[in-house]
Amino acid sequence: MIVQDVINHLHDLAPLAYAEDFDNVGLLVGDKNQKVTGVLVTLDTLEVVVDEAIEKECNLIVSFHPIIFKGLKKLNGKTYVERVVIKAIKNDIAIFSIHTALDNAINGVNSIICDQLGLKNKEILIPQTDTIKKLQTYVPKANAPELRQALFAAGGGSIGNYESCSFNSEGEGTYLGTEDSNPVIGKKGELQIEKEVAISITFQKHLEPIILNTLFKTHPYEEVAYEIVALDNNNQHIGIGMIGELQEEMEAEACLKFIKSQMNTHCVRHSNLLNKPIKRIAVLGGSGSFAIPAAKASGADLLVTADLKYHDFFSAENSIILADIGHYESEQFTKSFLVDYLSKKITNFAIILSKTNTNPVKYL
Ligand SMILES: [Zn+2]
Repeated sequence: MIVQDVINHLHDLAPLAYAEDFDNVGLLVGDKNQKVTGVLVTLDTLEVVVDEAIEKECNLIVSFHPIIFKGLKKLNGKTYVERVVIKAIKNDIAIFSIHTALDNAINGVNSIICDQLGLKNKEILIPQTDTIKKLQTYVPKANAPELRQALFAAGGGSIGNYESCSFNSEGEGTYLGTEDSNPVIGKKGELQIEKEVAISITFQKHLEPIILNTLFKTHPYEEVAYEIVALDNNNQHIGIGMIGELQEEMEAEACLKFIKSQMNTHCVRHSNLLNKPIKRIAVLGGSGSFAIPAAKASGADLLVTADLKYHDFFSAENSIILADIGHYESEQFTKSFLVDYLSKKITNFAIILSKTNTNPVKYL
């Protein structure tokens, strides 16, 4: 198994196409064709983590945060980032970062937090737009079922909890093949009027290459007529943050204590407690002040996130409780989730959870 094979499994979980634009996800260091000896999973790739990878004979580090974020202009070992990169290269260790691709995945960072808090009826808090596309194609009536089935098998036609969704309308297609044509139905130089079906399906944008490949492979015509359009729709599968409901409503203070214990954190900084029970909880792992308006609009009683500044707490405006549980703490369960996920997919070498606590923030 090579590095790319491991990446393909991670891509199935969290396609990199849905990472945020500012981010730097993917294979940051190393050769995608290198044979893998072992995988070490960490939140942050520090020098001590690279040392751990060497010691445990893992030549691929799967890191949540990207060690190279703003770009590198020099590689002389003056900063911890440069030293990590130099050490990884010297020791043939590849580094892959998944970061906001996993933040935006429906089974990713925020779903893990919801599960840790036992929340039900989970929904994405800020769904992405511009990530769903629609294909319309025209196919002879007799070939429509086979083409539809092939497009479904390629991942098309999935909407929420429904699969195999399509719309089909019958009509007449016309074409006239030129001298260089070789029509499957009809003769070149003669106008052909054919009973056709227009098939419409939607698909997630990262599937476009496989959808097109399937279309061209399965459609019988020499020239395939089709249109692909980008849709503005909210994507129910992709987006950052999540909202869910507690099994039973809780008093505010008891709820904060519950969150502190479930999220294994030393400290919860929070805004004013409100005199109403907590039922709906919004979560956003990592820096989440940008999600305060969305959490309020969604009717959440409380937002669990991290990296809130002094002035952010004022914006609670007595309509929501803001709870800052710490950046590392909010994302810490992501590590063991990735180990479990990869261990189920890969059995020919070890997937190891790094023993290094990379949290740079200490508490008295
Ligand atoms: Zn983070």
